[in-house]
Amino acid sequence: MLVAAKKILVRARAKKYAVPAFNINHLEALKAIMAAAEKMKSPVIVQTTEGAIDYAGVEYLAALIRVAASGKIPVIMHLDHGKNLKYFQAALACGYTSVMLDGSLLPYAKNVALTKTVVSLARKYGASVEAEIGAIKGIEDLVSVAEKDAVLTKPEEAARFVQDTGCDSLAVAIGTAHGAYKFKGETHLDIERLKKIAQLVKLPLVLHGASGVRADLLKLAERHGAKLGHARGVLDADIKNAVKHGVAKVNIDTDLRLAFTAGVRQAVDDQPQVIDPRKLLEPAIHLMAEVAMQKMKLLGSAGQK
Ligand SMILES: [Zn+2]
Repeated sequence: MLVAAKKILVRARAKKYAVPAFNINHLEALKAIMAAAEKMKSPVIVQTTEGAIDYAGVEYLAALIRVAASGKIPVIMHLDHGKNLKYFQAALACGYTSVMLDGSLLPYAKNVALTKTVVSLARKYGASVEAEIGAIKGIEDLVSVAEKDAVLTKPEEAARFVQDTGCDSLAVAIGTAHGAYKFKGETHLDIERLKKIAQLVKLPLVLHGASGVRADLLKLAERHGAKLGHARGVLDADIKNAVKHGVAKVNIDTDLRLAFTAGVRQAVDDQPQVIDPRKLLEPAIHLMAEVAMQKMKLLGSAGQK
């Protein structure tokens, strides 16, 4: 069933598990994610970026997700990294149950003002709002302590931001980055910072850029022609630690992309004579579902539907 994010995420934080948020922009990804959620009996967040909406159309995506959510699994239909009000209006009108306003690159006052506008718009539809404070980029890119403090989420500022905006959940920057190249050296998150944020902010916290960039998937992709040389993801132990300290939603996109495209590469390579697209896409769906199930176990959402 389609549900708003707030209740599910508050429960997840209280019970110390996290709900996975997977990005989709096509039917096959949605099928993989739902197969995984049903098998694992896990609540799931299906999210689309503005780019996904440009690619597939918001009506198409909303209709697909609504059908996918017609069973018993709680499904949150979420706008990921919304920046432009026209996407919020379109998504909410199409039945999205949750939206994220990413004002993290704006000055504080502008981020607050825009987040408040989106909160009041979302309330009209009974939808939840995720906001962000601090910039999400790799911790190894930041050399000095002062530099880290300038971009990573400041605990006191996070507490003030939540008060000022009335958002329902908060994305925090503790050292993760988007994409396959998250770290240059040691992979680690700033868990001490997260603990301080969690003491001051009682809302569900959100971790972006949390893919593990599994070595076997990298190998598979590279065997079939991809060049991903220095890709490096977040350690499972760090994710588990973050979930213990207030993180209730974890965004994973790169790992699923990696699985899907590795599956397609292998299928095309193994069956050069095949011209039925379904035969080339089915192995990719299976591989993506396998990775999604692994994430549900890691986050502790398996069995929590
Ligand atoms: Zn993100």
